[in-house]
Amino acid sequence: MEKRYNSFVGYFKQKYGCRLQKIVIDAGFTCPNRDGKVGHGGCTFCNNDAFHPNYSTPDKSIHQQLEEGIEFHLNRYRTTEDYLAYFQSYSNTYAPLEDLKRLYAQALEHPKVKGIVIGTRPDCIDNEKLDWLEQLSKEKIVIVEYGIESCYDKTLKRINRGHDFATAVKAVEETAARGIHQGAHFIFGLPGESKEEIMGMAPIINRLPINSVKFHQLQIIKGTEMEAEYARCPEDFVQWSLDEYLDFFVDFLELLRPSLYIERFAGEVPPRFVNSSPWGKVRNVELLQMLDKRLQQRNTFQGAKYTGI
Ligand code: SF4
Repeated sequence: MEKRYNSFVGYFKQKYGCRLQKIVIDAGFTCPNRDGKVGHGGCTFCNNDAFHPNYSTPDKSIHQQLEEGIEFHLNRYRTTEDYLAYFQSYSNTYAPLEDLKRLYAQALEHPKVKGIVIGTRPDCIDNEKLDWLEQLSKEKIVIVEYGIESCYDKTLKRINRGHDFATAVKAVEETAARGIHQGAHFIFGLPGESKEEIMGMAPIINRLPINSVKFHQLQIIKGTEMEAEYARCPEDFVQWSLDEYLDFFVDFLELLRPSLYIERFAGEVPPRFVNSSPWGKVRNVELLQMLDKRLQQRNTFQGAKYTGI
């Protein structure tokens, strides 16, 4: 690996010979944890507005969101020619299969779009949808990205996730059985989890048949239930300074299996969505540089302490 960890950007360059930029799409889905099918109010940390760019709103057609997103990214990465439509907002398989086919097709018919990334909950997928995605993945790039968030049921319950970890395991196993590329998302620092428990997720994640992973440190978003919970019992939350988080993540990375692609290890939501930004103004690109530097300083790498379990 070029870097001291297995970077997802590197994977795309290696496999497709180019950088593939994701364009975020809001296709107007909702979420069963909000509309009452599984729960009301949603996950306690969730405010979808904090996680998507301005060009992506459901009142615009998918084509228009793609056009505006491509324009936005062209100003930043002039060399990018190829894109993935990233169905990110809410649960993007939470609709009948015929609706999914129609929506995904609208993205795939754009000449610059090489494939789709579908963010969803593990309880919003079934064999019929996976069978169809398996066929589609033979012609286009298809990546399913599951929000798993924690490996512990006590945490999933506390954050009102509305599904347990076994549901996530079943979804990733069914997806892997069809050879569909899949990623998973986890949050570090959810309430009630100790540093040891968070570190204990590494071997559990290693055993999941996923290809890539995204991690985020918990950020408490204004107006969420999590904000009220944090005000009530801040001692239940592990918090890291940026320096501490870099060391924590390097320790975690040492335990991860070398074949797992790391798509993200931290992220910052725009300051207007949070009450405080304990790390100051730091951009994602700077965070990545800091991780490279810390790995070099400690002369270590992803999987350095991986024991095969
Ligand atoms: S499943 Fe996703 S969209 Fe639904 S409430 Fe939880 S974080 Fe928000």
